[in-house]
Amino acid sequence: MNAEIIAVGSELLLGQITNTNAQFLSHHLAEIGINVYYHTVVGDNHKRLIEVVKEAEKRADLLIFTGGLGPTKDDLTKEAIAEHIGNELEYNEVALKSIEAYFAKVNRTMTENNKKQALVMSGSKVLPNDHGMAPGMLLKANNKQYMLLPGPPKEMQPMFLTYGKNELIQLLEKVERIESRVLRFFGIGESALEVEVEDLLLNQQNPTIAPLAGDGEVTLRITAKHESEEVALQMIQEVEDEILRRVGQYFYGYDQTTIAEELAELLKERNLSIAVAESLTGGLFQSELTAVKGVSAIFKGGIVCYSNDAKKQLVKVKKETIDTYGAVSEQCALELAENTRAIFDSDFSLSFTGVAGPDEMDGQAPGTVWIGLAERFQKTKAYKLNLVGSRAGVRKRSVKYGCHYLLHALNQNE
Ligand code: ATP
Ligand code: MG
Repeated sequence: MNAEIIAVGSELLLGQITNTNAQFLSHHLAEIGINVYYHTVVGDNHKRLIEVVKEAEKRADLLIFTGGLGPTKDDLTKEAIAEHIGNELEYNEVALKSIEAYFAKVNRTMTENNKKQALVMSGSKVLPNDHGMAPGMLLKANNKQYMLLPGPPKEMQPMFLTYGKNELIQLLEKVERIESRVLRFFGIGESALEVEVEDLLLNQQNPTIAPLAGDGEVTLRITAKHESEEVALQMIQEVEDEILRRVGQYFYGYDQTTIAEELAELLKERNLSIAVAESLTGGLFQSELTAVKGVSAIFKGGIVCYSNDAKKQLVKVKKETIDTYGAVSEQCALELAENTRAIFDSDFSLSFTGVAGPDEMDGQAPGTVWIGLAERFQKTKAYKLNLVGSRAGVRKRSVKYGCHYLLHALNQNE
């Protein structure tokens, strides 16, 4: 379904007000997947309004009007449209009552022209005005949908959000299903990912592909529209297959999942246990992992070894390792991982040691992080990261990288 927004009002053409209604509506229509191809502005003039409507009918399925629903002579939107489509205006009892109630409340006499605001096109769905007098309406005629909304933003916006938008969502569901799926990536930057799928992004129509980045992760939301749910899902699948063919090595899961959850699920599935030694992450990894239900089957435990003494006493890191290389070093990460795995007798272990920041430590820049990865019967590995960002960001991303490395190791063992 595509829409044209027609703002009616000579003040708009005279430059007295800005067409913020079109901006507001475009924003909210995009959210529910309705394409807006044209914004039109026309004055309070019957003939020119009809001309604009005729043009819009050639290129849009949904025509949304704002303005000109008020009581005065220059408010002519519904009158003009009703005449154009051969519809009759009739009084809407509910609207009439609320206008009368309004005048009673402010203790003013209601003039005849105010009654005019309660006129709606016959057969239309009335959209109540909770912040003013003139109701809005939605009418289907000649295979087009006409939605009429009042001009003042403080009336139009709540009317659209409370009533209009839902009506449109219901219409959309009748015509087409909207299905979407989010693919989550880690270990690749937003721009690098976009380069890989640039042609898909440029040529997208249906399905659409929307990238989003945050917290060191990138996601791609694929949205397909089709009257059949099955076809919509198939369309999504085809795009997904193509994306994963290119950047599948960075993909870790769908929709709302987290990388820690994916790791926990995979360990559970393979019945493999894990332990962890955490310095700069101070327990964050364990916290993320134990947020997943059922991890008792695979999580043996962890040691928060924040101080060098704790690294030596609890995890048996050699004094000379720390004296020679420092706590933030490949050697320390290796020993932490290896010893932790042995202490807990787990299949895998991770270690996190680094400079969370904001200050440097022992001449090492904030964001310098070593992650150790030990596996039973395998050579222990360590990975170095140079992260940028806040202390919280460095710690969070370290945990995600730990999960990422272990997921990769598991997938290679497959
Ligand atoms: P009223 O009952 O107040 O007369 P109406 O539905 O007849 O409402 P208009 O008379 O066209 O609407 O406009 C009333 C006021 O609403 C304008 O003076 C302006 O402040 C605001 N308005 C109208 N159209 C727009 C628009 N497109 N964008 C932003 N504000 C608008
Ligand atoms: Mg008016």
